[in-house]
Amino acid sequence: MADKAIEVLLDERRSFPPPKGFKKSAHVRNASVFNTARKNPQAFWAKAAKELHWFKPWKKVLEWNSPWAKWFVGGKLNASYNCLDRHVNSGRKNKAAIIWEGEPGDGRVLTYRDVWREVNKFANVLKKLGVKKGDRVCLYMGMIPELVIAMHACNRIGAPHSVVFGGFSAESLRDRINDAQAKVLVTADGGYRRGTTVPLKKNADEALADAPSIENVVVVKRVGAESGAQMKDGRDHWWEDLMADAALWCEPEKMDSEDMLYILYTSGTTGKPKGIVHTTGGYLTGVTLANKWIFDMKEDDIFWCAADIGWVTGHTHIVYGPMANGVTQVMYEGTPDWPDRGRLWRIVEKYGVTIFHTAPTAIRTFMRWGTEYPGEHNLKSLRLLGTVGEPINPEAWVWYHKYIGGGRCPVMDTWWQTETGHPLITPLPGLTKLKPGSATMPFPGIEADVVDEKGQSVPKGGGGYLVLTKPWPAMMRTIYGDPDRFVQTYWSRFPGKYFTGDGCKRDKDGYYWLLGRVDDVMNVAGHRISTMEVESALVDHSSVAEAAVIGKAHEIKGQAICAFVSLKMGIDGSAALVDELKAHVAKKIGPIARPDEILYAAELPKTRSGKIMRRLLRDIADGRAMGDTTTLADPAVVAKLKEQYEEE
Ligand code: ATP
Ligand code: MG
Repeated sequence: MADKAIEVLLDERRSFPPPKGFKKSAHVRNASVFNTARKNPQAFWAKAAKELHWFKPWKKVLEWNSPWAKWFVGGKLNASYNCLDRHVNSGRKNKAAIIWEGEPGDGRVLTYRDVWREVNKFANVLKKLGVKKGDRVCLYMGMIPELVIAMHACNRIGAPHSVVFGGFSAESLRDRINDAQAKVLVTADGGYRRGTTVPLKKNADEALADAPSIENVVVVKRVGAESGAQMKDGRDHWWEDLMADAALWCEPEKMDSEDMLYILYTSGTTGKPKGIVHTTGGYLTGVTLANKWIFDMKEDDIFWCAADIGWVTGHTHIVYGPMANGVTQVMYEGTPDWPDRGRLWRIVEKYGVTIFHTAPTAIRTFMRWGTEYPGEHNLKSLRLLGTVGEPINPEAWVWYHKYIGGGRCPVMDTWWQTETGHPLITPLPGLTKLKPGSATMPFPGIEADVVDEKGQSVPKGGGGYLVLTKPWPAMMRTIYGDPDRFVQTYWSRFPGKYFTGDGCKRDKDGYYWLLGRVDDVMNVAGHRISTMEVESALVDHSSVAEAAVIGKAHEIKGQAICAFVSLKMGIDGSAALVDELKAHVAKKIGPIARPDEILYAAELPKTRSGKIMRRLLRDIADGRAMGDTTTLADPAVVAKLKEQYEEE
């Protein structure tokens, strides 16, 4: 951990005021909202909560015994009722809720009433399988409508869901089932991915050999015989068989505001996954408002969040936020490069997507592929873009704005975590002047700060640790089964403040610039340099598609800067280019940030959610044994890099 505040080096000066259309008609156009929320946060959040349907009103907005929060105390509500019944009862029953496209090219459109009906039926199926309020249900599926249906069916009967990303191995699934002690597993025979099939049921069987809490397994038929799925008598049931005679109405459980809505394990970029617990009233209030305001969701939008539901982004920006707001959304099963690299843009054009949300890792991949793919499609329906998951390099931001957004769509760079429930540092499209690479400012009602080692606020222009200083409704309540780890991880570093684990600087205008995780800040000869800043300087060079930078132990300097660089299509890595790249970084940031080593990498090691795993690169560079690799997307990538590194 740092012994002095993070120094600020990168200097990004471009800025983009809100487009005229947004200034005129966005949901939020008056900056007074920030003050109103600051003066009386409880009144602000209570007003947001009142937009939802409550079976019973709350008695008290907030009970705060740091770090334990209770929001909307005594209130009763149901999430599926808010995301479905409310719309079915108020003129949206025939509105498309989900426009789904399968990877092989098949498709389905489900209206709000369709989803509502299937959710009611599946809720009854779960009840018949013995699931009761409070029982955990594990979901291990691909991106098919049944996943959304199963999640709402769980919350309808008060059974917290724990979604495990369909790309995870049997081992990861087993650990998550056992940690949550889930009673039922819902999966599919398989799923389509990049032209082949993922054997979900086979993986599940392997996990279940050592996961005794699961009593019943429900299997959606998605790929058929090709999956090779075997059914175990008495334990396994086909979804379609159970649904055939399920009753059409299931009374929604009247959940206490503080009853658990779900558990979700974090992506595991930094180590052993944590089961993050979210509760019903606070989470739903926060995500409903944040989706409406940040993405400016309107009645006739076609929203598309291209994340997987296995991550919190998919929970908040597919299953709960857009559905609570009653918008129409697109859902896609497969990968962006199947059958070719124009797939996403063909989908945007085909359905007239108006709001598109993705991650920096995807944007950098699109940059690497080149502009011809988006260029072949009419993307004029788009009016707003989003990015989330990692700091976005300014060059990638500008590329996204120009080639996907046609220069007219504001880009919402949204900073948040599984733990925070929804974006907390984010622009609002009708108000915020955007700066590429900055997530801009805290959302109304959110109080953030940047502090030094001692927890003292760092003045504007300086950098340090991002903390949150006031409770907010959608904040995590605990780590499932491990309250001590919750207190230890988030509330001990700076007493009374939530520690995000991320480094951050604030510029003179008060804009927040996320620098990545605190562990990703290097100490080079006493200078604190963020890996993110060096990476952005490298990506700024026309030959570079992506870069991962780490601090390698160095006898004299403390740490030396080591960069792993992947080049754009068609560019060869030469020794001359290494020198050129070093000089480029030195020019952009300063000689102190000049990398000591640059290594070409065909691919960088990433988590399954697409984040660069710098800790594994540190292990390689320092010649240590590799740490936990279970959440790595492709273990072969690190093995190859390790070999290559040792040779050079
Ligand atoms: P783990 O906590 O298990 O290591 P993780 O932190 O990758 O995994 P998530 O909750 O999915 O799991 O990711 C949250 C983190 O992602 C943030 O703490 C931050 O480091 C990064 N992040 C997300 N959005 C942004 C953004 N817009 N700008 C910068 N960083 C971001
Ligand atoms: Mg994290």
